[in-house]
Amino acid sequence: MEKGFVQIYTGNGKGKTTAAMGLAVRACGRGLRVVIVQFLKGSSTGEMKVLEGINGVKLIRVANADKFFWKLTDDEKEQMKRVAEAVLLDIETLFEKNEVDVLILDEVMGAMKNGIVTMKQIFALLDIRPKQVEVVLSGRDAPKELIDRADLVTEMQDVKHYFSKGVKAREGIEY
Ligand code: ATP
Ligand code: MG
Repeated sequence: MEKGFVQIYTGNGKGKTTAAMGLAVRACGRGLRVVIVQFLKGSSTGEMKVLEGINGVKLIRVANADKFFWKLTDDEKEQMKRVAEAVLLDIETLFEKNEVDVLILDEVMGAMKNGIVTMKQIFALLDIRPKQVEVVLSGRDAPKELIDRADLVTEMQDVKHYFSKGVKAREGIEY
């Protein structure tokens, strides 16, 4: 790509992660090298089973596989912060070596809200990226500063959701 843009998928409706994963598949199908970092949510998902096996997609998880984020102790959160820091450094290296075309930071808004990464770190990453790298940031409640910085912002609006009728998350549809 000649020029990469910064995209945000936000809002309280369903579809942010699935849109980001859809873009990953599309990009990969065109030979672009994709790096996906998934923050906070560590449980197994259908997309992860597929994406982990694809050449040209690198999937990194900054999450605890067997505990929901809100159940973590302060120590475990500190530990996750350090993992996030290391992952951001790895991404810098990938940028330097020109080994990524599309970078997806899924649920990064939640990671910022919970202090796992700072907005400053995300801005720094956007600043140092090679100009052809496309970046997708997803998660509810995108902060205004990031929206101002982005080139594309899509808000998934919750018009109706079966969750409000008591339907539980379904394998293959929600995860
Ligand atoms: P998806 O992964 O289905 O694309 P998402 O990334 O937009 O959803 P998140 O905010 O990451 O949604 O929420 C995680 C879980 O909550 C997913 O299982 C998602 O389907 C579900 N969800 C999304 N929107 C709503 C909503 N408005 N009410 C209840 N649950 C929702
Ligand atoms: Mg999501």
